[in-house]
Amino acid sequence: MNRRNFLKTAPAAAGVSALSAAPAGATFATKIVRLNLQHTWTTTMSSSQYRDTLHTTYTRGGLTGRGEGAPIVRYHEDAVGAQKAVESVRDLMLSADPLQFAKVMAEVFKRVPGDWAGKAAIDIALMDWVGKKLGVPLYTYFGLDPKDAPLTTFSIGIDTPEITKQKTLEAADFPVLKVKVGLATDEPTIEAVRSVTKKPLRVDANEGWKDKEEAVRKINWLEKMGVEFIEQPMPAEMFEENKWVRSKVHIPVFADEACQRASDIPKLKEAYDGVNVKLDKSGGLLEAYRMLMIAKSLGMKTMLGCMVSSSVTVTAAAHLSPLVDYADLDGNLLISNDPFHGVRVEKGKLILPKGPGLGLTPV
Ligand code: MG
Repeated sequence: MNRRNFLKTAPAAAGVSALSAAPAGATFATKIVRLNLQHTWTTTMSSSQYRDTLHTTYTRGGLTGRGEGAPIVRYHEDAVGAQKAVESVRDLMLSADPLQFAKVMAEVFKRVPGDWAGKAAIDIALMDWVGKKLGVPLYTYFGLDPKDAPLTTFSIGIDTPEITKQKTLEAADFPVLKVKVGLATDEPTIEAVRSVTKKPLRVDANEGWKDKEEAVRKINWLEKMGVEFIEQPMPAEMFEENKWVRSKVHIPVFADEACQRASDIPKLKEAYDGVNVKLDKSGGLLEAYRMLMIAKSLGMKTMLGCMVSSSVTVTAAAHLSPLVDYADLDGNLLISNDPFHGVRVEKGKLILPKGPGLGLTPV
């Protein structure tokens, strides 16, 4: 067999061996859930009053795991596409041995080329099930101490100075805030926040600055305004410009939109001090864990972030949060119809649920 034919047949052979007959009572369901936002949510990319995320339910042997993925428009994803992608591996999910979860997810990654949020919805449901089967919370499965969970920021979306002030006051319980910038209104936005609080701020430009000199000017001004670090100042594709910006500023620069896969990270070290890892970008917990390990091994700073989503995804990410330097896990706090209780926040600190798996309870 030549090399090309071997590469074609090897994954298929591995996939077939992972399959066995579907046991009675095994189910795998998907549902698109519309999450309503408390405030219209605006970043440089979009403005919306709701978000549709894909929810999955995996039942086997009397235990049910729940998953969720928030499709990211930036990567041309939507909930309908995510649902189709997840449904395409239903046969695998029903027949594979879930305790061979790493093998199952490797097969899912081979079969589903994109739709990272869809893959996250599968991985999270599978790992919730595994935690329940083993009788341990996922932080224990990953060998982590829940007391090490960091503070989370609360995010302030782009708005008028008056509403920005109001949102800042509403976030009184959070000791650190993350402010979205990247439009022409950056200075009035930060001034509005600063007019009502002295808290440390972190700023996310969401690729909003297209000129490297402007980015440096704004970051140096933000440093004077008490900003600890900046996320994705320029478009991900402008790698050399981001690298130049980082060489001219004093506060750390994080990659978010530029950091999707584990394989992105070694190159990113040239232009960024840290990475923002999200389960919806990575395709779930297992890949996010791998990304964090790679970033840490390279001496980079680490952050766990999230999209607007329910407590399913946010709690899943929170179980990995004892690993990271910074957390921005507030997507569930921005919505008004969260179907689950999971991770809680007390004075900004993430409090992980102690139940097995994700530890979710229905609202
Ligand atoms: Mg970001």
